[in-house]
Amino acid sequence: MSLWTSRKLSNICVAAAVLLCLLGAQAKTAALFAAAIVLLLLDLLQLAVFYRCPHCGRLLPFRQWAGPLYCPYCGRELNAQNPDR
Ligand SMILES: [Zn+2]
Repeated sequence: MSLWTSRKLSNICVAAAVLLCLLGAQAKTAALFAAAIVLLLLDLLQLAVFYRCPHCGRLLPFRQWAGPLYCPYCGRELNAQNPDR
C-alpha cells in the first residue's frame, strides 16, 4: 500500500469511527462504540506499517490533513509519490 493510500484509508477510518460513535449514542448500543475502537486500533496498525517515508522508511508525522510534502527526517520530497498532486 502506498503512503497516500494509507493516508486516505486512515481519513476514511476516522470518519467511519465518528459515525459509529454517533450511531452508538443514538441507538444506546455499546457494540457500536466497541466497533469504532476496533476500527481505530486497526487504523493505527495500518498507519504504523504503511505510513512511512518511501526513501528512509521512518514513520511520518500525522499532523496535517493532507500530509507532509517533505520527509522531516531525510528531507526528500514525498510529493512525487502522490498521484493527486
Ligand atoms: Zn525520509
